[in-house]
Amino acid sequence: MAVRGLSVRISVLPVYFDSSILSSFVVLMVRVIPVRCLNLQEYQSKKIMADHGVTVQRFFVADNSQDALEAAKRLKAKEIVLKAQILAGGRGKGSFTSGLKGGVHLTKNPDEVEKLAKQMLGYNLITNQTTKDGVKVNKVMVAEALDISRETYLAILMDRAFNGPVIVGSPQGGMDIEEVAATKPELIFKEVIDIFEGVREDQALRMAASMGFKGLLRQQAAEEIKKLYHLFLKVDAIQVEVNPFGETPDGQVVCFDAKINFDDNAEFRQKEIFSQDDTSESDPLECEAAKYDLKYVGMDGNIACFVNGAGLAMATCDIIELHGGKPANFLDLGGGVQENQVYQAFKLLTADPKVEAILVNIFGGIVNCAIIAHGITKACRELRLKVPLVVRLEGTNVNEAKRILDESGLPITSASNLEDAAQKAVASMVPK
Ligand code: ADP
Ligand code: MG
Repeated sequence: MAVRGLSVRISVLPVYFDSSILSSFVVLMVRVIPVRCLNLQEYQSKKIMADHGVTVQRFFVADNSQDALEAAKRLKAKEIVLKAQILAGGRGKGSFTSGLKGGVHLTKNPDEVEKLAKQMLGYNLITNQTTKDGVKVNKVMVAEALDISRETYLAILMDRAFNGPVIVGSPQGGMDIEEVAATKPELIFKEVIDIFEGVREDQALRMAASMGFKGLLRQQAAEEIKKLYHLFLKVDAIQVEVNPFGETPDGQVVCFDAKINFDDNAEFRQKEIFSQDDTSESDPLECEAAKYDLKYVGMDGNIACFVNGAGLAMATCDIIELHGGKPANFLDLGGGVQENQVYQAFKLLTADPKVEAILVNIFGGIVNCAIIAHGITKACRELRLKVPLVVRLEGTNVNEAKRILDESGLPITSASNLEDAAQKAVASMVPK
């Protein structure tokens, strides 16, 4: 499923899924929590898998074609697979701005690896999960290729509907799992796991059988499933997806692709994993905001929204649109905010050249409105704010906040409620 490109960019959570089976769950979650999630590339996820005893092929990572060639030689493999590393899935069927078709290539000739890497690195890869411009490829994975006799699908995820982990599997994995889910839902199997008990032997074996593994392979697949579940818990994942989870003609079960998403709340105990965060594909403003514990989401319009809380952000964006405006971005301050964060927030909002007006909509519960007011006046002065600013403050210490703004002598338009604020922000812009 394409997570990017949904109508409201609030819903952009930069995670990608091979499978639409999970999409409704994910989109719901995304719509209400504008968070930056940890993103790891396939090679990073595979390293974690290998560290947990899961079967993956040997591989190297390269960021230039010469290193890719060296890696291909060092592997001494019968056949090599070269895979572009971007956070989106659907790479196999993607195409590059260099003209090369396919983000995953198999070859027996190391020199061919160099040629292919040249057509991947530095170019954008466009897949059904990226925007139409695609994503720049900075790294390639050079791995030992194996014959695959059968491609199945396996995912482990936290599912709210079951209040815990669920294993999802299908005998028909590979590149078109979305189609399987849509046209043959009877081929999608689920095992609900009791988090206190873990995966039982009979559950792992039943899932392996449902996925079409027979005889010794069934036992092997069950072992891989148990290891993946162990990893899922150990690294505080919310999803581990392996597609294809494959079978080789010589009787091995191998994880050929890997995507792991992590629970952001577990950052404090997964420091090593979180330190690998790959932000190369993220909006630089989003990353800058995260440094100050602020959440920034860019959109296409021209009114910057400065809010506290995801719900208020959504409401503010909606009401701006209702009055004929378009939000340029929103910045969520969260609770417990300090004056310096307010200043940084203004700096970020105004860094977007599209911004023609700023609407501040703060409901002070934990947030002290006076701190916001001090931050706003400091930012207006120091940043020499040039665009109109409409402020609606409500809640804790609001009278003091209003006094600070009124006495500042700055050209700030105050609004009495959200509706009034949105109307004033839209009206404040000079028509082009
Ligand atoms: P994506 O999901 O982004 O399209 P995958 O890693 O699933 O990327 O690769 C696409 C296809 O390439 C797989 O379905 C599989 O058929 C093939 N493939 C991937 N890795 C290997 C490998 N190591 N050996 C052989 N074939 C592979
Ligand atoms: Mg895949």
